[in-house]
Order: sequence, then structure tokens, then C-alpha cells
Amino acid sequence: MTPDTLEGLLRAIARTIVEHADELTALDQAIGDGDHGLNMKRGFEHVAGQAAELSQRPLAEAVTEAGKTLVMTVGGASGPLYGTFFMTFGKALPEQPALPDLAEAFDAAVAAVERRGKSTAGQKTLLDVLVPVQQQLRVPGEQLLARIKQTALHAADATTPMRAIRGRASFLGERSIGHMGPGARSCALVIATLCDFLEG
Ligand code: ADP
Ligand code: MG
Repeated sequence: MTPDTLEGLLRAIARTIVEHADELTALDQAIGDGDHGLNMKRGFEHVAGQAAELSQRPLAEAVTEAGKTLVMTVGGASGPLYGTFFMTFGKALPEQPALPDLAEAFDAAVAAVERRGKSTAGQKTLLDVLVPVQQQLRVPGEQLLARIKQTALHAADATTPMRAIRGRASFLGERSIGHMGPGARSCALVIATLCDFLEG
């Protein structure tokens, strides 16, 4: 990945999050405290601000640093989880990653999020998007990016009928059912943007 591509990618993800901040806020108002849109917007705007500088570094280092920025600037429960994902993913990347390297790094990052959140898929969190995407990365064949994008968006939708077991939404018990998980939606947006950008 060239510095220009990496810079463009980081900016594209931030743009998507900014464009969807109100939607994420509304989702978090329904089953949380309403700060997820602002949390994510703040964090990814910081990453976009660093994009030019980060993109000059080796890929692993750039991704790890972006994760540190997210930990420091997103806040809430999601900040440390997103940060953990990117820091672990970055540290696991070799200099010129091929698909199996990406899948392996993704495995490590998902496991780190599970440990950090003391959570697993099925609990109406971002892991409900990360885990199906992780599985798609192991399915070889055509149209990987398109498949991953669809998987991520569908997986976020599929959190709507779930009952939350982790995070603030779990305080609502049964009343968390019927709303899409804010973290699942933001995670799907990040992944879908990444796929669109790399395909373009
Ligand atoms: P907060 O809940 O502190 O207000 P945010 O609103 O930014 O933080 O993020 C909420 C999202 O974080 C949830 O929708 C969920 O996806 C994710 N989340 C919260 N707690 C956990 C956890 N223990 N494990 C995994 N994900 C979690
Ligand atoms: Mg919140």
C-alpha cells in the first residue's frame, strides 16, 4: 500500500464516520447514552488529522499509531475496543502483507477485542460484525471485498433482534431488542468504507 493510498483510506473512513455520526448517535440514544456518534467522530477526525504523517510510516506502525489515537480520543467503551483492534492488527502485520497475513492479523485483533471487552459474538456489540468478517477472510475465492462489505452490513442489521449482554445497552435487558447495535453499525461502516476504497 502506497502512502497516498493509506492516507486516502484513513480519510475515507473518517469521512464516512462523520457523515453517519447522527445515525450512530440516534442508535446509541435508543439503547445507550447517545454519545457513540460523537465519540467516533472525534476519534476518527483525529486520525484523519494525522493521516498525512501516519501514511509516511511503515504500514504496521501507521495502523498501530492510529489505534493509539483512537484509544486516546474516542472515549466511552468503544474507544478502548476500537483502539485495541487497530493496535493489535497493526502489530501483527508484516511489511508486505498478503491475504493470509491479513487474516491472521485480523484473528489476533478480534481475540484482543474479545479479551478486552470480556465478550463474544452474540452479545450485540461490534464483535457481531468482526467475527463474521473474520470468517469471510478465511473463505478463498472471488469478490472478497464485495463479500466482506455485504457480510459486515448484514451482520450489523442482524444485531437488531438481539438482546444486549455487554455494554450500556445490556442495562435495558429485553428493551435492547429491536434496535441495531451502535458499535456494530459503526464497525460495519468502517469495514464497508475500507472495502469500497480498496476496490475503487
Ligand atoms: P459507551 O457505551 O461507554 O457510551 P459508546 O457509546 O461509544 O460507549 O459505544 C457503545 C458500543 O460499544 C456498543 O454499541 C458496543 O458495540 C460496544 N461495547 C460496549 N461494551 C462492550 C463490551 N464489553 N464488549 C464489546 N463491545 C462493547
Ligand atoms: Mg454510548
